[in-house]
Amino acid sequence: MARLVMKFGGTSVANVERIRNVALHVKREADEGHQVAVVVSAMAGKTNELVAWCKEASELHDQREYDAIVASGEQVTAGLLAVALQKIGIPARSWLGWQIPILTSGAHGSARIQSIDGAPLVRGFERGEVAVIAGFQGIHQPTGRITTLGRGGSDTSAVAVAAAIHADRCDIYTDVDGVYTTDPRVVPKARRMERISFEEMLEMASLGAKVLQVRSVEVAMVHKVRTFVRSSFDDPARPNSGTLICNEEDIVEAQIVTGIAFSRDEAQITLRGVADKPGVAAAVFVPLAEAGVNVDMIVQVASSDSMTDMTFTVPAAEFEHARAILEKSKPSIGYASLAGAKDVAKVSAIGIGMRSHAGVAARAFKALADKGVNIRAITTSEIKFSVLIDEAYTELAVRTLHSLYGLDAA
Ligand code: ADP
Ligand code: ASP
Ligand code: MG
Repeated sequence: MARLVMKFGGTSVANVERIRNVALHVKREADEGHQVAVVVSAMAGKTNELVAWCKEASELHDQREYDAIVASGEQVTAGLLAVALQKIGIPARSWLGWQIPILTSGAHGSARIQSIDGAPLVRGFERGEVAVIAGFQGIHQPTGRITTLGRGGSDTSAVAVAAAIHADRCDIYTDVDGVYTTDPRVVPKARRMERISFEEMLEMASLGAKVLQVRSVEVAMVHKVRTFVRSSFDDPARPNSGTLICNEEDIVEAQIVTGIAFSRDEAQITLRGVADKPGVAAAVFVPLAEAGVNVDMIVQVASSDSMTDMTFTVPAAEFEHARAILEKSKPSIGYASLAGAKDVAKVSAIGIGMRSHAGVAARAFKALADKGVNIRAITTSEIKFSVLIDEAYTELAVRTLHSLYGLDAA
């Protein structure tokens, strides 16, 4: 007998019929005698609808009420799955974040899980009951308010519950049958990986592969949760095991580049005519950091007449905020003009093999140039590099790099 967490994402619970199908996956494991906790997302599209309603009510809304609104989607699917399980003879009950409780920080809209009391869930297992947990939500104890974990947060709920109840494994069921070398919906030649290391998965997720929320990979890595990504659309009687996220040492065939990720949620800001002298970078980036704006790629061009241009990227959602801050700080920074672009994308190649191989990125610059793709900015780190390009070239760039590094399926 094992203890399992099974997580089902939005498309897997998109309607009552699919929820019935999910119940069959759960029944398979329960019939094996396993103790099962299920974590569910809201029905596909529901969270977007709730977010839009909230914005429609007021563009500048109370974040605590935003959480009260958007957490509701998961409540519905948790209840529905419990009912669907009971109907096929599997004892089950729903659990909301506050009922367990899943305690989080007070950062509404992107709260972090602080602790989960696994005991009530385990008592339920001892009564022979499947626990159906609403993902994405928790409670901030000092204020008693409902919180949410950021978009895609049910993945993190699942892995954190698995850590709390010392589960033998955590299966993330989604609409693809594992982690691919790049988004299979964009590159049909993408290949499914048998295994991927935590480090690489962390980079893939941070750089735009939304198959797992970044935080869920961190939690899995820190708490050594055996995590698989697999498909809810497999036959419930004969499912495939999907992709295992594991330690680097457990990867048999290491590639130089493992995967390509991309993100269209970037915006570029260029400050022209900035003085090339000590303290200018601080004048630009300290106010942004203090306002919580995440700055990513930074490029400073060679100066002429001790004046320079500074280009950097921020998340597209923070573009207006960043611009307002920079306009306010104009006297202290001292720049001639500010230009911004939202039609940019970041394309990244990830692989632990880059640690020991030189010239990996240089090959990409040449291949992209041959395709006429202009590179606006570059960043590199130990196991990845990223290029900022015009958004219109995203798919071409992803496909080019995918072929270049030998990732295309035969
Ligand atoms: P869920 O609703 O189950 O949480 P998501 O939409 O959040 O599902 O994540 C699954 C999607 O992630 C897939 O449909 C796929 O388009 C996308 N994706 C992006 N990059 C990858 C990748 N490298 N491997 C697999 N899927 C990826
Ligand atoms: N329903 C939430 C979202 O769409 C959480 C999740 O699905 O993981 O972001
Ligand atoms: Mg998701």
